[in-house]
Amino acid sequence: MTSKKDIKILTQLLDLSGIKVISHHQYKGVGIILQIESINNESICPRCGKKSHHLHQNHKSIIKDLPLGEQQVFLEINKRQFKCQKCQKPFTPILTFCRNKKKIY
Ligand SMILES: [Zn+2]
Repeated sequence: MTSKKDIKILTQLLDLSGIKVISHHQYKGVGIILQIESINNESICPRCGKKSHHLHQNHKSIIKDLPLGEQQVFLEINKRQFKCQKCQKPFTPILTFCRNKKKIY
């Protein structure tokens, strides 16, 4: 069941540039977990500035978002790690909205 509150969160999340919500689950006694991932299939290497779309691997990360009423909100992020073909080094694009959030996993 999707409540008005859920829709509000999902809409707010969708307002984040380059982020899409995949699914959301509500767990009794835990809170709401929203699965999100970046829309972009490419990213810019922080070392050389070259665009890379060579996917290295995926990392799952869970961060604690602000609570919604009595519900704690968690964001499960599918972080894509890219590998720059020029530097031959992997890098993970920085998700700016995560900066001030507490990473729990
Ligand atoms: Zn590079």
